[in-house]
Amino acid sequence: VFAHLAQAPEDPILGVTVAFNKDPSPIKLNLGVGAYRTEEGKPLVLNVVRKAEQLLVNDRSRVKEYLPIVGLADFNKLSAKVIFGADSPAIQENRVTTVQCLSGTGSLRVGGEFLARNYHQRMIYIPQPTWGNHAKLFPLAGLSVKTYRYYDPPTRGLNFQGLLEDLSSAPSGAIVLLHACAHNPTGVDPTLEQWEQIRQLLRSKGLLPFFDSAYQGFASGSLDADAQPVRMFVADGGECLVAQSYAKNMGLYGERVGALSIVCKSADVAIRVESQLKLVIRPMYSNPPIHGASIVATILKDRNMFDEWTVELKAMADRIISMRQQLFEALRARGNPIEDHFRTPGNWSHIIKQIGMFTFTGLNSEQVAFMTREYHIYMTSDGRISMAGLSSKTVPHLADAMHAAVTG
Ligand code: PMP
Repeated sequence: VFAHLAQAPEDPILGVTVAFNKDPSPIKLNLGVGAYRTEEGKPLVLNVVRKAEQLLVNDRSRVKEYLPIVGLADFNKLSAKVIFGADSPAIQENRVTTVQCLSGTGSLRVGGEFLARNYHQRMIYIPQPTWGNHAKLFPLAGLSVKTYRYYDPPTRGLNFQGLLEDLSSAPSGAIVLLHACAHNPTGVDPTLEQWEQIRQLLRSKGLLPFFDSAYQGFASGSLDADAQPVRMFVADGGECLVAQSYAKNMGLYGERVGALSIVCKSADVAIRVESQLKLVIRPMYSNPPIHGASIVATILKDRNMFDEWTVELKAMADRIISMRQQLFEALRARGNPIEDHFRTPGNWSHIIKQIGMFTFTGLNSEQVAFMTREYHIYMTSDGRISMAGLSSKTVPHLADAMHAAVTG
């Protein structure tokens, strides 16, 4: 009965790793995947995560019973504090409902379906470009997707005017997907002044913000600094949704641990919202897995372990920032042809200006194909490279390839 099925295309991001794995070259380099690597190119399990897991294993009172539909209570409470701040009035007034979901993706999916079922406006605006999964998951959740201008190719920066125009003409009540920090794939974030203008626009038009927070702490190294845009929206007393992921900032990729928070106008609305979220989750996957959320709760609950986490998180963020600097300098050292190629202000300076795990290089799909063919460097065809996949040892190889790609 399935013989008629066509072969589905590989996921554009995960497919990069499939191609990488098939390449026998010893110099191959995978800059496609959005996962942190050490200077030695290895995946990293944080020490504090190992410690938390040890505590969990040693605790014989722990059982493997089902969690409630909304997940682990401590995890939910503490996750809200991580994103909104421990002293957030919305938390103190019990206006926030937080449910544990399957990492960032699952939080977006549950949030999307909750909105499709319970909110009067089905239209969600996502930035152009954005993480590829947004355009796929929201329609499946029952929302209809439109885009708003975001990236400005000539400056490799933000098209702020375009963003304001597009959101100004969105229908009243429309949902707006915002990357809380470290926009993927562009690495381009609004300044705090621009965020304030975005906030005013959304609130004045009654648009509903839905934050995707997949990189808190990864952009600047500070959890609080990276949560600033979200907290500006919560401080004005209005509603918003936030999808949080611990994949990157705790290195818990495969544990699939995240949270969806909905900030409401009052405590009794928050209770009813939670009851509706349960109706979304129960028939989807019944209840979330226990292990990852227990690791996170163990770390967030303990002052020392929390501090240890922030130190390890900052070390990851700092290494990425240092890779930006090293790549920028390596390209500069390779001379003028590159600077001439990009007749934009600052030339390669977008590499050091962009924020977070990714650099949107500006390389086109032919140049990317050339680098893969000739240099065994793998990345998505939009020219996005994961800075976390680089090391001091591999920067020269990448710089050679980029140089050849733009001058060849
Ligand atoms: N949103 C964005 C912008 C992302 O980059 C990612 C991860 N690549 C996610 C959400 C979801 O990640 P996860 O489901 O692994 O938490």
